[in-house]
Formats: sequence, structure tokens, C-alpha cells
Amino acid sequence: MKDTFKHKGLRQKLVETVKFKGIKDENVLRAIGNIPRHLFMDSGFLDHAYQDKAFPIAANQTISQPYTVAFQTELLQIKKGNKILEIGTGSGYQAAVLCELGAKVYSIERQQELFKKTSKFLPKLGYMPKKLIFGDGYKGLPEEAPFDGIIVTAGAPFVPKPLLAQLKLGGKLVIPVGDDVQTMTLYIRKGAKEFEKHEFGDFRFVPLLEDKN
Ligand code: SAH
Repeated sequence: MKDTFKHKGLRQKLVETVKFKGIKDENVLRAIGNIPRHLFMDSGFLDHAYQDKAFPIAANQTISQPYTVAFQTELLQIKKGNKILEIGTGSGYQAAVLCELGAKVYSIERQQELFKKTSKFLPKLGYMPKKLIFGDGYKGLPEEAPFDGIIVTAGAPFVPKPLLAQLKLGGKLVIPVGDDVQTMTLYIRKGAKEFEKHEFGDFRFVPLLEDKN
């Protein structure tokens, strides 16, 4: 698990790229500059770790493109100590970004292989999510609700109702909605049953799958 000067240099270039594409939040940019993304990837892809691209990880899944991670995180407007739920732990990279921002992180993954691998890996790097859960993200995490923010990192065919229900007043759900292509969508809770909806263009994610357990 080496993080060399070369890696750090490549990472600063990645930060510049993501900034050039429109990310402004200094805390998000700092997180990307701090996290050794190459360590979240399988050895065959190490050389590509600091390109602004998604790459395959285990179990046919992907580590999201850094720009996408930054875009979704920026929409959450996280403050230190915020309680954030992530759906789709995957490699743990997005969870590490949330930890860097000082959030209390809860994250759900439905692939056991990824759940196990990432549960061991994140603490090794010093990232301590509050809870990593092996389970179905469609249900959210009612026992820990309400959340300041919920971030879905897989393409959702529809917006799962439990996720909206588990937001605090003023809380935000960031979710890519659609089948082949997804529209990045932000919901802000304004009341018991009132939500403000904002849309932010097209993205492509691996699908949010129904529970198979
Ligand atoms: N946030 C991840 C991106 C992983 S890709 C990262 O930073 O690397 C999306 C992840 O969502 C995959 O790991 C996939 O297994 C998971 N996933 C898909 N459907 C799910 C569901 N219903 N509940 C929880 N996780 C799910």
C-alpha cells in the first residue's frame, strides 16, 4: 500500500481536471487531493487511477468517475458531523470522500464480496465509517434515520420511497434516476410530505439492483 510522490503529483492534476470541469467546493477538491484512489483499484488498473474515469472493481461493479463523485458530494453540501447514508459502498472511495468531509458515514452494499473487502480496507487507510452494512439499499437504514443526506451511487430505475422518508427536514437525497442513462436528481425535504426537486443532467452508473438475498 504505497502512496508515492508520483501518485500525489498525479492526484493534484486530477484535482485540477475536476475543478476545470466545474467543481467549486474546496472541501470536496481537498478530499480528492488527499485520497489515494489507486489503492481502491485492482492492480491491473493502477496506472489509470488518476484519470477522470470510472473503472471496473470486483463483482462486475465500478469505482465511479472522480468528477461524478465530486459532483454528487458537492450537491450534498456536507457540514462536519452530518449523518450521511450512502447506497452502494463498492470500492469505498465515495465513503472515504464523505469521511474526509467529517461526515458520520453509513453505507450499504448488496455484493458480499465488496462488502467484506471494503470493510477491511477502509480502516487500514484510516477511514472509519460509523457503519458498513451488507444489505439492500432500496430500504435505506430506518434504524439510523433520519439523515442529513443520502447519496445513491448506482442508477436507480425509480426513487425508493424509504429513502425520501429517512431524510431530516432540510435533508438532501442525491440520486441518479433512470435506466440506461440517469438524470442526477436532488430532493430537498421541505415538510412531512413536501420535497423540492432539482435535476442536473445525464450520468451513467451501474444499476441499483433489487435485493437478491
Ligand atoms: N460508491 C462506489 C461506487 C460503486 S458502484 C465507489 O465509490 O466505489 C455501485 C455499487 O452499488 C456497486 O458496488 C453495487 O454492488 C451496489 N449496489 C447495487 N444495487 C444495490 C442495492 N440495492 N443496495 C446496495 N448496494 C447496491
